[in-house]
Amino acid sequence: MTFVTRFAPSPTGHLHRGHAYSALTAYEAARVDDGRFLLRIEDIDVTRSRPEYETAILEDLAWLGLSWESPVRRQSEHLADYHAAIESLRARGLVYRCFKTRKEIDIGRAPHEPAVAYVGAALPPEEEAQRLARGEAFAWRLSLAAARAALGGFEGLTFIEEGSGPNGETGLIQARPETAGDIVLARKDVGVAYHLAVVHDDALQGVSHVIRGHDLFEAAHIQRLLQTLLDLPAPIYRHHGLLVGPDGKRYAKRDKAQTLRELRAGGVSPAALRKELGFG
Ligand code: GLU
Repeated sequence: MTFVTRFAPSPTGHLHRGHAYSALTAYEAARVDDGRFLLRIEDIDVTRSRPEYETAILEDLAWLGLSWESPVRRQSEHLADYHAAIESLRARGLVYRCFKTRKEIDIGRAPHEPAVAYVGAALPPEEEAQRLARGEAFAWRLSLAAARAALGGFEGLTFIEEGSGPNGETGLIQARPETAGDIVLARKDVGVAYHLAVVHDDALQGVSHVIRGHDLFEAAHIQRLLQTLLDLPAPIYRHHGLLVGPDGKRYAKRDKAQTLRELRAGGVSPAALRKELGFG
C-alpha cells in the first residue's frame, strides 16, 4: 500500500505555528515511509474562505520548505461531486430536510454549554411541502436513526488510530458517531459540510493516512460513519497533540502575532522554526 497523506487547511486565515507543526508532521511521515504528500485547499465555506489566504498558505508552506504534488485540489471546484454524494444518501432515505435554525435548536442552552447534538426527523410531507413553497431555508441532515438501521447498528464501525486522541485513545477505536447527533451535510449558505467533502476527497485521492491535530479526533467518529455509508475505504488515523503557546493555550487563527507571516517578517528563519517545532 502506498503511503499517501495530506495537509488540508481551510483558507480562512493565515497559518500559524500549529499549522506548521501539523503540516510538518504529515510531510515527515510521508518522507519516512517513501510516500506521497498532498495539499488540499478546503474552501467549501465560501462565506469565510478568501483567495488571498490560499495564496498565503502556498507561500508560507513553501517558505517552510515543503513541496507537494500538483495540481492542488481545491474543494470549491468540486461541489457537484459532493452534492452527488449527498444525493446518493438522500435516495437511500439517509438524510432529511431540517428547517430549524441553530437558534431554535439551542433554546435553553447556557453560553458555556456545548452545542446541542440535534436529533430529528423529516417533517410530515404536507408541512414540508408548505415550507418549501414558502421558500424557507433548510439544511440536509444525516439521520442517525436511518444510518443505524441501514448498518444494523454502529458496533461494526471502528477505525485505527496510530497516534492518539486527546484522552490517549489509541489502537482500534470504536466509532461513536451518535455523540454529534444528526450532522448537517449541506446548508443554504454552506452548500456542503466539511465532513462530507473530507471523506469524499480522502477516498478519491487515495489518502492512506489522515494526519492532523487532536481537535479533529471527534471528527473521525463521524467521518467513519460517512465512509461506511458511502462505501469508501477507511484511512488510518494519526492524530497528534496540539501545540500550546507560552500562555498554555493552543494556537489559533485569532493569535495574529503567531502567524508564519509574522514570524517571517520578524526575521525567524524556516530552519529555526522547524527546529523549534522538533523537526530540526
Ligand atoms: N480543513 C480542516 C481544518 O482546516 C482540516 C481537515 C482535516 O485535516 O481533516 O481544520
